[in-house]
Amino acid sequence: MRRGFKSWCERAAAEYRRSLGVALGEPLDPRALAASLGVLVATPEELPMLPPSSRMQLTRAGVDHWSAVTVSQGGKTLVILNSGHSPTRQVNSLAHELAHVILNHTAAQVQLSSEGFLFRTSFDSEQEAEADWLAGCLLAPRDDLLHACRRSRSTETLAQHFGISEALTAWRLRMTGVEKQVKSWSGSRSRAR
Ligand SMILES: [Zn+2]
Repeated sequence: MRRGFKSWCERAAAEYRRSLGVALGEPLDPRALAASLGVLVATPEELPMLPPSSRMQLTRAGVDHWSAVTVSQGGKTLVILNSGHSPTRQVNSLAHELAHVILNHTAAQVQLSSEGFLFRTSFDSEQEAEADWLAGCLLAPRDDLLHACRRSRSTETLAQHFGISEALTAWRLRMTGVEKQVKSWSGSRSRAR
């Protein structure tokens, strides 16, 4: 990952959250972030203009094979989310797609549908890693995790609080060093006793 990228992500996440009025340690609604970026969000069910064959592919036959699709047309961006996935997975998928938008990533491959919609189908692995990292920062920034840990250090409780999966919570706790830092709190507390 580019030098300085990770700290840039923490700063960017803090700025987006501040501009959306999200207090320190509180969850971010990625749909609110999408709205502030001018990105539309929908599920296949919410898109009546979707051709029946595409709807079928997105909701039944191919439901396990995609998380989110970003579609651009005429300067507008739409993220289609897989409503068959759990709410926490949808939150992560949306944050990931928004990270691509924020980072101005250009897709390695695009497909143009017969209706003129531009489907971004794949990014290179570096861009995928960056989008994953920024998405995690947006949903659970280091400072916010640390703040929330004052109330509870249980991964399950933190995950519920931030509206994200336990797997993502555990990953963020580990990668940000918050896990270690919090452990040192209990260490000093027991020493003080
Ligand atoms: Zn991606």
